[in-house]
Amino acid sequence: MIARVTLEIALRREFDYSIPQELAARIEVGSRVRVPFGPREILGVVTSLLEESSHTNLRPITAVIGRQSPVTPKVLALARWMAGYYCCPVEIALRAVLPEAVRREEEGWRERLHVRALPLSGPLPKLSKRQADIWNVMEEWRDLPLTELLRLTGTTAETVRRLEDKGLVSIAPQISERDPYAHEQILPTQPLVVNPEQSRALDAIVSRMNESAVGQKAILLHGVTGSGKTEIYLQAIAHALEMGKGAVVLVPEISLTPQTVERFKARFCAGAHKTLVAVLHSHLSAGERHDEWHKIRQGRARIVIGARSAIFAPVDPLGLIIVDEEHEHSYKQEESPRYHARDVAVVRGQMEGAVVVLGSATPSMESYYNAKRGKYTLLEMPSRVDDQKMPIVRVVDMRQESRKQKGLPIFSHQLKEAILQRLERREQVILFLNRRGWSSSLQCPKCGYVAQCPNCSVSLTYHRAANRLLCHICGHAAAAPKVCPESNCRNPAIRYAGLGTERVEDTLRKLFPHARVERMDSDTLKRKDDYRRILGDFRVGKIDLLVGTQMIAKGLHFPNVTLVGIVYADLSLHIPDFRSGERTFQLLTQVAGRAGRGDVEGEVFVQAFTPFHPAIQYARRHDFVGFYEQEIEFREQLKYPPIARIALLVLKGRNEEKVRLSAEHLRNEFDRLPARPPGTPAVVPGESRAQRNSDELPLLEVPSRKPRGKPEPAEAVGPEPAAVLIPDLIVAGPTPAPLARAETFYRYQIMLRTRQMTRLSQHLARLTASVELPDDVSLVVDIDPVDLA
Ligand code: ADP
Ligand code: ZN
Repeated sequence: MIARVTLEIALRREFDYSIPQELAARIEVGSRVRVPFGPREILGVVTSLLEESSHTNLRPITAVIGRQSPVTPKVLALARWMAGYYCCPVEIALRAVLPEAVRREEEGWRERLHVRALPLSGPLPKLSKRQADIWNVMEEWRDLPLTELLRLTGTTAETVRRLEDKGLVSIAPQISERDPYAHEQILPTQPLVVNPEQSRALDAIVSRMNESAVGQKAILLHGVTGSGKTEIYLQAIAHALEMGKGAVVLVPEISLTPQTVERFKARFCAGAHKTLVAVLHSHLSAGERHDEWHKIRQGRARIVIGARSAIFAPVDPLGLIIVDEEHEHSYKQEESPRYHARDVAVVRGQMEGAVVVLGSATPSMESYYNAKRGKYTLLEMPSRVDDQKMPIVRVVDMRQESRKQKGLPIFSHQLKEAILQRLERREQVILFLNRRGWSSSLQCPKCGYVAQCPNCSVSLTYHRAANRLLCHICGHAAAAPKVCPESNCRNPAIRYAGLGTERVEDTLRKLFPHARVERMDSDTLKRKDDYRRILGDFRVGKIDLLVGTQMIAKGLHFPNVTLVGIVYADLSLHIPDFRSGERTFQLLTQVAGRAGRGDVEGEVFVQAFTPFHPAIQYARRHDFVGFYEQEIEFREQLKYPPIARIALLVLKGRNEEKVRLSAEHLRNEFDRLPARPPGTPAVVPGESRAQRNSDELPLLEVPSRKPRGKPEPAEAVGPEPAAVLIPDLIVAGPTPAPLARAETFYRYQIMLRTRQMTRLSQHLARLTASVELPDDVSLVVDIDPVDLA
């Protein structure tokens, strides 16, 4: 037998190896193997087994890694789809599907020495006092980790060895699982009695799960914050378990708090089911990740909760995938493979016949569009559990306010009054501003100097606590000057313009000297448990006013918060990205959702300089559909997603001229590249007619399956540029990227828009393989980018 192997180094091709007799029984599709490659040995994954190879003199596989193949055939198929759609080599896609700790062979199960009592054969031999102490403990416990035994008896390992010599106990290594949640006290919960709205949604999900037909089973659950979506997830998961299937729950990294994990563990981890829920996220140690992952692979954990990459968890069979806060941009990976976990979830669900539930209070334009067109089932939950009211949102016109207060005010009169009132009533307040630091820039009013990052095309932010100017892109730090640094100016009246959370906190302390104020942003979270500590203090009422960036916007549930102030709502409207309105709407709605989660009705103040912007006005009215309707019109006019899909080609390099010329060259090559290599048919294998003309995320082409129906006649082959193959293609650029320079690299981009992304991806794969660029210019292909800056 012969194994075809994808090597870990990106070579964009696979290699055949012979399988030595002694390894034959252990090698299957998905096995990780070590193989010779030139003078070295490298790791790879077996992607298929063959009877024969067109190559001769095959070298043998050296070793198989692990007892179980880490990549299941289903996950392998998903990785192949990903490589095709996101235009990256299969080996890069495969790297993403296995956690680092599993890929590297260094991490293994942790083994600890265990002492076990052996059955007595005959009378107890004579023992010293210490030996007798140990024996007494062992008779009771039978099996203990050695360290534990030493702690209990206050003896040394030497003494235990004596007992081993006498045949009373054995000492041997034993696997001891690392449990990241071992120290949590988790009290089991029972399913809640769902309300009618929840019940309708749950029934719809369950009946989709019971359908035997495979195919697209994606559901968009649009439920306002506090409508009880999590309870629906929990009960749907319970149904998956009843069906003998597992579930994957994706949560944005930032919301993957111990609180969130506990809600799932508490429902499913009682008693003997301790390992039923596995957690995968970046804060686990490599060893913990190794153990969690293998618990899933061995089928002991059936429910996986995790961030983006948990979508590749080897749960099998898989009945349900939940993507909570599906609109979150953090589901998109910003390095190759640049996959969007929500979209991968939809494809995986389709491949494995699993139901996919996308949940959000503010769905992405993409998902709502798909739901409106019937591609996804739409379920709506417009009211909060127990009929709690949505908070009252008041928009404050800061233009008027700055006229009244002279100069740029941080707090309007109304918001100050409202905060004071909450302090008197001993209720809590959240103040939100999505910019950390003291000010957004350092300016000289006399000569116009602005402190710029030497590496990036952005101005530096002043951080007062550190007394430094920092770049939020590259981290460049400089001393804050006391006078204007321009040699012919030296104006001492240099100004800090704009504001950040640090300044908001400081102002609050001055305005309300008796209030307990805390700030939460990445500057104040220095240690691993700072996040938990601050939220814990807030929960128990040790903090009155909490200031923060979007870190405090998500999913937190504090019943005593009755007021939320959004200090500067238009901040995110100024980002040069067609999604800035959508993002602002989502952010405002999410932040506002933090207010009034208890008995007292919530109130939200939105301070804005553009108070009539639709994103602000629709958020004020909690009107998602209204926002969607007017936003989709704008997207339609400009052919932006979800009307078309985007592929962004970004070129980077330190020499601006070279980057610009390379971008122009790339554009020319793109225009000239024949639609397909000569001699290949016009039909993409496995692609149906319907798919070819739609923006569906297509399934992986399965080569063994013949296309149904009559084969299409081969069209005449000639130089047929992309525009012919993809008639709706719009090409824009090259232009400098909105962030024209980052970390000393100049950036140029070409934006491509089409509904037929699969075709474009294939075209781009050929382009990137053939185009020649200077060594110091790199090209990134980003399919469905979420961040255009
Ligand atoms: P969402 O995720 O939609 O914002 P949650 O799932 O966090 O909402 O639910 C909000 C609160 O309502 C939680 O404290 C939850 O325990 C509670 N809750 C949900 N469903 C019910 C129910 N049927 N009966 C009583 N309380 C519920
Ligand atoms: Zn910088």
